[in-house]
Amino acid sequence: MDEQLQELRTKIAQSCRILAMEGLVEGILGHVSVRVNEKEMLIRCRGDQETGVRYTTDDAIRLVDFDGKGVDLVGRYEVPKELPIHGEIYKSRPEVGCVIHAHPPSVLICGISELEFKPIFGAFNMPAMRMALQGIPVYPRSVLVTRPDLAAQMIEIMGDNNVCLMKGHGITVTGKTVEETTVRAINFHILAQVTLEVARLGKSAATLPPEDIAELPDLGSTFNDIWGWKHYVRKLESDDRTLSFADY
Ligand SMILES: [Zn+2]
Repeated sequence: MDEQLQELRTKIAQSCRILAMEGLVEGILGHVSVRVNEKEMLIRCRGDQETGVRYTTDDAIRLVDFDGKGVDLVGRYEVPKELPIHGEIYKSRPEVGCVIHAHPPSVLICGISELEFKPIFGAFNMPAMRMALQGIPVYPRSVLVTRPDLAAQMIEIMGDNNVCLMKGHGITVTGKTVEETTVRAINFHILAQVTLEVARLGKSAATLPPEDIAELPDLGSTFNDIWGWKHYVRKLESDDRTLSFADY
């Protein structure tokens, strides 16, 4: 496998571990993929060494086509049951380079209790505020997305949005790169945590006035994605030191 693919495998494995570290995935559920070309993707699979998303190694990231087939599985790796979420998005949205599917409890609870995401904070987390401002599409079915026709329903509702709430299930997040998509998924989780906490307090928070929204700058992708990503990788490294080497 060439160097570029190896780098991507490492990055996808890091993304999986970061999502687990940040509480977006628990146990063995959740996956990250990257488009490699017009037919193939690298995706987090399960092998005989499977111990959960928090402990994802590069080895679990395999190259398959958009229907989940490929010699890279070598009969030892199983693609995710919800692979069509990834494959069908790559088939229908050429601008997407990375897909994350996760089950964050924060978003789950907001979804099933039908809490509305509103721009209730500003400089605290501007990308998350903009997510709420833009509106988050909701796929209303709680099914396991194991077939292309089910993925197609979700993709239609998602449109060209980069986030989708799957009611009673989880989230699907898209982006151009692993860095951008990972940070976006975490921001979605933060928006849900704040929304949930306000509701839990029995309060309602006012929507930001338009003049405050207009004041908020777009800090650009280096600030929002690259530095954010580097922070989570660094945090992961220090977090990982507390884990036994045997876990890997
Ligand atoms: Zn799922």
